[in-house]
Amino acid sequence: MKTIIEPFRIKSVEPIRMTTRAEREEKLRAAKFNLFALKSEDVIIDLLTDSGTGAMSAQQWSAVMQGDESYAGSPSFERFKRAVTNLMPFKHIIPTHQGRAAEAILMSIFGGAGRTIPSNTHFDTTRGNIEASGAEAHDLNIAEGRDSQSLHPFKGNMDLQALDAFLAEHGDAVPVVMITITNNAGGGQPVSLKNIRATAALAHKYHKPFIIDGCRFAENAWFIKQREDGQQNRSIQDIVRDCFSVADGMTMSAKKDAFGNIGGWLALNDDDLAEQARVKLIQTEGFPTYGGLAGRDLDALAQGLAEIVDESYLQYRIRTNAYIVERLDAMGIPVVKPAGGHAVFIDAKRWLPAMDPLHFPAHAVACKLYEIGGIRACEIGSVMFGRQPDGSEKPAAMELVRLAFPRRTYTQSHADYIVEAFEQLQVEVDTLRGFAITQEPKQMRHFTCQFAPLDASGDRAAA
Ligand SMILES: *Cc1c(COP(=O)(O)O)cnc(C)c1O
Repeated sequence: MKTIIEPFRIKSVEPIRMTTRAEREEKLRAAKFNLFALKSEDVIIDLLTDSGTGAMSAQQWSAVMQGDESYAGSPSFERFKRAVTNLMPFKHIIPTHQGRAAEAILMSIFGGAGRTIPSNTHFDTTRGNIEASGAEAHDLNIAEGRDSQSLHPFKGNMDLQALDAFLAEHGDAVPVVMITITNNAGGGQPVSLKNIRATAALAHKYHKPFIIDGCRFAENAWFIKQREDGQQNRSIQDIVRDCFSVADGMTMSAKKDAFGNIGGWLALNDDDLAEQARVKLIQTEGFPTYGGLAGRDLDALAQGLAEIVDESYLQYRIRTNAYIVERLDAMGIPVVKPAGGHAVFIDAKRWLPAMDPLHFPAHAVACKLYEIGGIRACEIGSVMFGRQPDGSEKPAAMELVRLAFPRRTYTQSHADYIVEAFEQLQVEVDTLRGFAITQEPKQMRHFTCQFAPLDASGDRAAA
């Protein structure tokens, strides 16, 4: 059979409240045109993030009831640890409430002023934790990863030459080498097994520990199986084990590839480092057999890890994105290609070339998408990155709209609905106008800032 179906039946449903376009236009105005300020009940299809928004399975919900809430020595922790080490053979598994808590603990060990930490691309919370420690974060993704039209099969790869030169130049200032799989900031673009191994070998040549940010390890392994020579007949589990067996540790957000609504962990092989990490864990998260989580969460994650490596699930998941990218591409809408693992990206700079980037073209697309279809996406462009520390404005490198897909939550007809909303958006694209920011905090403004629409001449439109 050719048709790739959702490999699950639906036992429990959440109703979607349908709204009219007029209603949505009113809601958006009331939200001062910030999509983060919308109530989720006013959203028809919510693609703001794939983090913690997935659907748990019947087995996960029944695992929740097996959760043992003992403060110390809970069997839930043993089940969680077994599920993690079955895929990632690390010696010490340290549960945390989210991925960023694992990063904060890691940076309490490796961070500090005068240090610099390379990765293919640090995710923003990783970068935030590195910088908060006083260290610098450095991105060394291959050039193809920054070209939205390059069809390179592993656009998340580390630039190995650049890493070698970086390690030679910075020597003792580099405490650790990291890599993010898949590369979230680049749209979920994968890293090849060969590149992971070569990055590990380089790190070890310079006697540096190698840590993987493994949030989307299963999606990454699926791409390796599809695209990398010699990997086609291997199981996802074996590929995952190979990826992590060359690393000295990992950080993880279990809100991604563990089907959790919350959770994360830090894993390490080194006994001394693990001891330091556990001291910090007790100070900031909790006792080492629960970290920042309830026993029931640990059991849900243990079951989620058994389910995430299922090939029919991964095929359906990756295919949904690829399908939307193919349809939008055929309509002439500029998309980042090839499709990544967890998100579809629209390149708004190419779609609206006449709009000043500081009038926020990607934000204009995201707002119109909400008005037309009730679809909530996320701007990743000059709203997010344009404000400089001195308060001035500088356009971001790219103006992207991200549609991130929650796991097992939406179906093929939702995908077709999204495509139809873009068909309408294309009809209206010449009417799109930019925005001005009218109120903003000094940092992380995209979450809370307020906007006013501009008219065709770039002036503030009459209210
Ligand atoms: C989500 C994410 C994190 C942070 O995890 P949280 O659970 O949100 O704290 C870190 N790295 C990557 C690649 C992520 O996608």
